[in-house]
Amino acid sequence: QWIYLDGQFVTKENAKVSVYDHGFLYGDGIFEGIRIYNGNIFKCKEHLDRLYDSAKSIMLNIPLTYQEMEDALVETLRRNELRNGYIRLVVSRGAGNLGLDPNRCPNASVIIIVEQLAIYSEEAYKTGLKTVSVSQRRNIPDALNPKIKSLNYLNNILVKIQSNLAGAGEAIMMNAQGYVTEGSGDNIFIVKNGVITTPPCYLGALDGITRQAIIEICNNKGYKIKEEPFSMHDVYVADEVFLTGTAAEVIAVREVDGRIIGEGHAGPITLKLLDEFRSIVDKDGVK
Ligand code: PLP
Repeated sequence: QWIYLDGQFVTKENAKVSVYDHGFLYGDGIFEGIRIYNGNIFKCKEHLDRLYDSAKSIMLNIPLTYQEMEDALVETLRRNELRNGYIRLVVSRGAGNLGLDPNRCPNASVIIIVEQLAIYSEEAYKTGLKTVSVSQRRNIPDALNPKIKSLNYLNNILVKIQSNLAGAGEAIMMNAQGYVTEGSGDNIFIVKNGVITTPPCYLGALDGITRQAIIEICNNKGYKIKEEPFSMHDVYVADEVFLTGTAAEVIAVREVDGRIIGEGHAGPITLKLLDEFRSIVDKDGVK
């Protein structure tokens, strides 16, 4: 396995960064998770747009141009002879001193790791996930804007710990006002009486690329889709609940805080959207 590390290809064993890297010391950096389907880098432009926007927002100077970054992704896949899998693209502030000051980090570091991926079994897409809501609140836009896909995922990790302790597969987060925002690493949708609803990102959710793809599919295929705030009550009484994300694709939720959702397995709209989603994944992107 070859890892791209600041312009070099190194083996996994040799892929090391400095203990002075502010990505390590402070979570100062950004990342993307991207899928490759049949040699196609799915929604490459959307992921790179989000990466460069995140970088601009935190004043992180990515040392590669957009085109150079795309070329680096393609070359990393080629070296690893990978046509299906997952790309983790990380840009950290780079090595500095022990102080917070990013001016002491002259060179941002770019890392590309590609791997095989299957986070859920095909069975799980039919049975759905058991989930719990958590007390940990999603950080709100006037703190660290959730649109920034920052390396600092401690909030999400605390959420994951809570969901592990509850024996659940994923967690559902709310914001400080109690509106549902997203999962620890996915966006959330509910379906009620044929209407699909997902929370607006301003409530405190990452503007997920899978989320956008699902909204687009709904609009193209004539499903009723809304971006509107909702509470845990609406989740409990939904006909269907599903999560979306680069790794998870479109996965049903069968249980939330002990309440069984719908029939207790993936519902028809969720499965239809998963199908529709899988029909575009090797088309929309960079080959
Ligand atoms: N929300 C969070 C907190 C995430 O980390 C992710 C994963 O990237 C998502 C949502 C889903 O976003 P995407 O569909 O772009 O992978």
